[in-house]
Amino acid sequence: MRVKRAGTVLVAVAAMVAGLTACGGGSGGGKFVVGIKFDQPGLGQKQPDGSFKGFDVDVARYVAKELGYQDNQIEFKEAISANREPFIQQGQVNIVAATYSITDDRKKKISFAGPYLITGQDVLTRADDTTINGEEDLRNKKVCGAQGSSSPKRLVDKFGEAWKSQYLIEQQGYGACLPLLENKQVDAISTDATILAGFATQSPGKFRLVGKPFSEEKYGIGLKLDDKDTREKINKALEKMFADGSWKKAVDANFGEFGKFFTTPPAIERY
Ligand code: GLU
Repeated sequence: MRVKRAGTVLVAVAAMVAGLTACGGGSGGGKFVVGIKFDQPGLGQKQPDGSFKGFDVDVARYVAKELGYQDNQIEFKEAISANREPFIQQGQVNIVAATYSITDDRKKKISFAGPYLITGQDVLTRADDTTINGEEDLRNKKVCGAQGSSSPKRLVDKFGEAWKSQYLIEQQGYGACLPLLENKQVDAISTDATILAGFATQSPGKFRLVGKPFSEEKYGIGLKLDDKDTREKINKALEKMFADGSWKKAVDANFGEFGKFFTTPPAIERY
């Protein structure tokens, strides 16, 4: 009786192993859904042919591969700034790689692997506007920022609620801020220098990146709060990407001239 039951269990385990192998790895062979930005050139941008391009995209692809997923198992889903925590919490994505700054507030809801890039908050103006040369000059200027993004929040913390109601225009994403700057509905966009450099490069001669960063933004890969196992796997994947030259390659391929500011990868912060 005992022997017979053990035999049944063995057969069942063998069948499961065979099933997993047949799927070709990657957490049972399912889809790996990655939340990225669709409107940020150089970081996460949907191309006219439907493909995706950018530094975050390259990092996500590398990580997915290290976790055992094939390219055709990766699905990119648009995550705007405000959607990132809820998408992870609700299980709508496996990870988020979307100019996602590691912050203590966000760490209460989700967890972060990384960082894989460090940039700073900066300012983009129209090319011919010489009146804005740093954070302080935004005190009496109309500024565009994305909802759920840490960038407008930093300005509101500094300039106050009255400034917010008079001067801050919030959009769903930074791509939507760009026409407002061009049409003079706002005077500046303030967010990560990486994002602003991408916009400036995309429209030569139209905009000016001030180039005086006033914060430290550490980009992390967001994932479920309790998934320490995957977090460590992603940290290891990032360290491999840093070490084998793929990180620098992705910097040069996506940031162009601006890539010279990113010479060495950051140190992974385990917690
Ligand atoms: N890195 C900042 C953040 O995570 C600003 C850029 C963005 O909103 O994507 O909020």
